[in-house]
Formats: sequence, structure tokens, C-alpha cells
Amino acid sequence: MPMEPSTTILCSHRRPRSHPPIWLVCHTNQGPEGYRSARGLAAYTAQHDVEGGYHEVIDNLEVIRTAYDGDEVNGAGPTANDHGWHVCEIGYAEQTSAQWHDPYSLAEHSHLADRLADRCRDFGIPPVLLSPADLRAFKPGICGHDTVKQAFPNDTTHWDPGPSFPWGLVIKATRQRLGLSVSVIQPVRVFTGGVEADMPTAKTKLITLAHQGFGQFRGVYDAGVPVHECQATIHGPEPKADGWWPHTIGATVRAQARGNRVIVTASCPEWSEGQPQPAAHVVAFV
Ligand SMILES: [Zn+2]
Repeated sequence: MPMEPSTTILCSHRRPRSHPPIWLVCHTNQGPEGYRSARGLAAYTAQHDVEGGYHEVIDNLEVIRTAYDGDEVNGAGPTANDHGWHVCEIGYAEQTSAQWHDPYSLAEHSHLADRLADRCRDFGIPPVLLSPADLRAFKPGICGHDTVKQAFPNDTTHWDPGPSFPWGLVIKATRQRLGLSVSVIQPVRVFTGGVEADMPTAKTKLITLAHQGFGQFRGVYDAGVPVHECQATIHGPEPKADGWWPHTIGATVRAQARGNRVIVTASCPEWSEGQPQPAAHVVAFV
């Protein structure tokens, strides 16, 4: 059974929202993994003098509803408050990848995927990971508070859920719950400029992109991580019957590093099938 909120403990600062959310914004509370921590967090945001809030908070055991769908909360600054549905896992943005894969966190991610899939279904939001540029273009999908910070730096200073948050795992689990395919391509191939490229070519392309301003990617490369050993998962438009993505032809590719992952976003302006997904996201794991 998918995880549903077990109870409702409303946060103090809520107001009616003016339109449905287009972003599912994921957070951490910056607190330790503890027994019934979600209840503790909900009780905290219920205090009158606590301005911040979420729609749901999650620990390893349960999900607590802290605002109604029709509420706007103070989740991540004015733009993402207005356009976002906010969900918070117990944990720290500083957590390492290993810490994000401990039993407590894995239970949280499972509950999170249940809730994201449910919200995608309810709000008509595609289960895709958004880039800052996607947010600035007001494309619908899933993101972190840190994505909001990168997209709208004047809005917020927080960078949760942090660079090692396992987005690939969460998006994959969310898509599985929605009955969507999660295709792993091996050997890794990405699209560059409308041409399907082998990974060495893609790597060259990505390093070029790094020199054009995607310095974080260069940092990953310089750390000695051979990109050609990546596995890639393509999220976004569904594959055709032959298992490939012909409608990403003509895509432009951008790369961004987050922790030990390189996120490659293939924008697809001519996308027309399977709306409302305007872009394909390639998430490469190093
Ligand atoms: Zn946050």
C-alpha cells in the first residue's frame, strides 16, 4: 500500500493559494534522524512564531500532513511558495550519499516517492527532475529547495536537500509507482546537438560545456571520476516502442554536477507528444 498521511498537524502560517502547484519541492529539516521526528517537526511548524512550513513531512515511519492542498506555505521564498507543493524529509543537506542510503533514509525515500507519485497524479505534474532553468521557465516537475535557490537567488538562501540527495533513486521510484518506464541505457549514450553520441564524444562535449560555464561539472571531472563509466537514466518523455527517444532529436544538452552525479538536461523544443513534458532529463551517475 502506498504511504498516505497518517494524521494532520497543521503548520501555523498558511494562506489560500491562488492557483494549483506546478512544482513538487523537496526539503530537509536540518535535523537528526530520530524516532517520530516527523511528528516533532510538525509540532514545531505548528507553533505560532514559526514562519516556515511544508505541506507534508516525512520520517522513516510515517507521513504527516501539515497543510492542505489549497494552502500556500512558507517553503522556499515567494516564487516557490506560490508555485510549489512542499515536502520535507528528516535529515541534513550535508548528508553524504552513504548517509542518504542508510535504512532510515531509504524508508523516507520510499515514502517520498509514494507521495510524489500521488501528487504528480493529482496535480498533473510530470515526474521529472527540474533544472534551475526549467524553474525560471516555469516548467512543471520535481525539484529541491536548492534548485529554487539557483533559479531565484534573491528568493531564498537554503540549499537543502543538498548535493548528495539521491534524486535518481527518488525519481526512478516515483516513476515506477506511476507505472512509467525507467530505462537504463548501457552502454551510456547521450544526445549532443541532435546526434546520438557515444560516451567519449559526450564526455568531450560535456567538458566543453564545463569550460563554457558549467564549472561544477569540471570539478567532478577533475576529481578523477571517469565519466565514461557513468550509468545514465533518461527521465522524461516515454520511449517509443523501439525503446529509444527519437523526439529528443534536436535537443540541446547542458550538464550540471550535483555531488557525485552529473545531471544532463536535454531540452527538446519540438516536443509535442505526451504533453505536458517539455524536456528530457538525463541523470548520469558517476
Ligand atoms: Zn528547504
